[in-house]
Amino acid sequence: MTNQQQPKSNADFDAIVIGAGFSGMYTLHSLRDKLGLNVTLFEAGNGVGGTWYWNRYPGARCDSDSYIYCYTFDKNLLQEWNWSERYPEQDEILRYLEHCAERFELKPDIQFGKRVVAITFDDETTLWTVRTDKGDTVTSRYVIAAVGSLSTANVPPFKGLGSFKGKWYHTSQWPHEGVDFTAKRVGVIGTGATAVQAIPEIAQQAKHLTVFQRTPNFCVPARNGKVDPEISKARKADYNGVRERIKNSFFGFELNFIPKSVLQTTPEEREKEFDRMWDDGGFGFWLANYQDMFFSKEANDVIADYLKRKIRATVNDPVVAEKLVPKTYPYGTKRQPLDTNYFETFNKKNVLLVDASTDGPIEEITPNGIRAGGKEYPLDIIVIATGFDALTGPLKNLGIKGRGGKALTDEWKDGPLTYLGLLAAGFPNLFMITGPQSPSVLSNMPVSIEQHVEWITECIRYMREHKLTTIEATPQAQEQWVAHVAEIAGATLMPQANSWYMGANISGKSRQFLPYLCPEGVGGYRKKCAEIAERGYEGFMFDGVSRTETTESRAAE
Ligand code: NAP
Repeated sequence: MTNQQQPKSNADFDAIVIGAGFSGMYTLHSLRDKLGLNVTLFEAGNGVGGTWYWNRYPGARCDSDSYIYCYTFDKNLLQEWNWSERYPEQDEILRYLEHCAERFELKPDIQFGKRVVAITFDDETTLWTVRTDKGDTVTSRYVIAAVGSLSTANVPPFKGLGSFKGKWYHTSQWPHEGVDFTAKRVGVIGTGATAVQAIPEIAQQAKHLTVFQRTPNFCVPARNGKVDPEISKARKADYNGVRERIKNSFFGFELNFIPKSVLQTTPEEREKEFDRMWDDGGFGFWLANYQDMFFSKEANDVIADYLKRKIRATVNDPVVAEKLVPKTYPYGTKRQPLDTNYFETFNKKNVLLVDASTDGPIEEITPNGIRAGGKEYPLDIIVIATGFDALTGPLKNLGIKGRGGKALTDEWKDGPLTYLGLLAAGFPNLFMITGPQSPSVLSNMPVSIEQHVEWITECIRYMREHKLTTIEATPQAQEQWVAHVAEIAGATLMPQANSWYMGANISGKSRQFLPYLCPEGVGGYRKKCAEIAERGYEGFMFDGVSRTETTESRAAE
């Protein structure tokens, strides 16, 4: 169908995309070049890249293997791009995304340096009005929030932060010119995946590094290295196979659980498997371990014990080692950081660990440093690696008002309400990509991003072919979906950790598991979304009428 045949609309654009990261860039390409829509994209930064535009802290690199941390929708692109390392650094991923922006001629339709501050639905015209901080006010039929899952920085309200005489930086808002740590006394707050990458790098340069740890983390070696050209060639020859395998996998990787309970193995047998996964490095230890790891605390303890032994064997000072051993949550229930010399860094003479539970928590930031447990640690630079208001934060920040002027922030005050994590009741034509209650951050992101973009594209195609104006979730389907997401998470050990998956890192945020852990993995979720579409978008309403009602009334006619 061509543009001329579409339902008439006086909107400035057919679709507005928000965010120029992996998801927004592909959405722009897909809606514009596959459907012929008139699309614009607003991006707060001055370049493409999203996460990879903003997160420029030392050591920033991808934790997924590069050959699958990329777009797979274009066969030629897969063949022409060569990754240098198993886990590319931030600047290499950014170069890749810039290459994609050029290759698909995206930049003419991207408005850089414009942050969306309000999105309002008009009940009369059924259009969205989108406003930016630069004064734009434009209307659109569809809005696609491609704002990322981890893009709203969490800067905790540390008492005295404003009084600090040195410099402080949040890792996700890193200066483009970099930070020179030479001869500086540096403090890092946090020990999540970001800090685990940054700490070894900063320790190499700084005169002294103090790490302020609230909760220790289980880490597994990344085992980064140059990509073997022969392996790269073989993967390129088999990209169709790679693509099918990751699409239909559990987490979007070429990884599968060991189909056995760890409790049914002998100590020798499981030690051999653990050693294999440890030596391989990467997410295998976390996402392809024994199948009961996420369900049975007893099984989890056996696996966690291996990682605890590794920490004790690596860190020379037994007192420091004990501080670094996680004891308060099951393994894997927080996002697995991959490390390169993280625990080894605590053997360096210029590195000090200040642990909240044994040395005392951070009390305040003073003009000269950080006071924790009654002691002041003098610092020149503070690196705040305290993460993000994950999944819901970026959407809540958009100032969304749906049908009847209802604010998304009010509707979601007790937690997100979506159907499939794609659309919400009362917010017609507002699509979310890898938002809450979809597999999102529990998967290799590009795999889930491509699935959402392709589903949304086909949904809009369907609407235009059937002359349907709006789509939204029915309240019933949404209620069932929210309950389903919670029920599945409740059957695992995930709720036992104070993780950002649970919203526990943000004070006042409702505690619930935010992503969707599909029992059949991302492959199963993909199938579920496709089947719902095939059944005429069951659980959705078009133009305010539910699909069941539409089918019934059509049958009556
Ligand atoms: P994070 O995992 O949320 O870690 C934040 C750290 O700061 C935690 O150690 C946390 O302690 C601590 N913290 C938070 N608030 C604090 C406070 N008020 N006082 C003291 N400590 C505080 O954040 P992140 O490390 O930036 O990582 C977020 C996510 O980004 C990752 O899990 C991952 O999904 C993604 N990421 C990906 C990559 C990659 O793929 N290469 C790299 C980095 C990050 P608690 O544990 O006690 O909350």
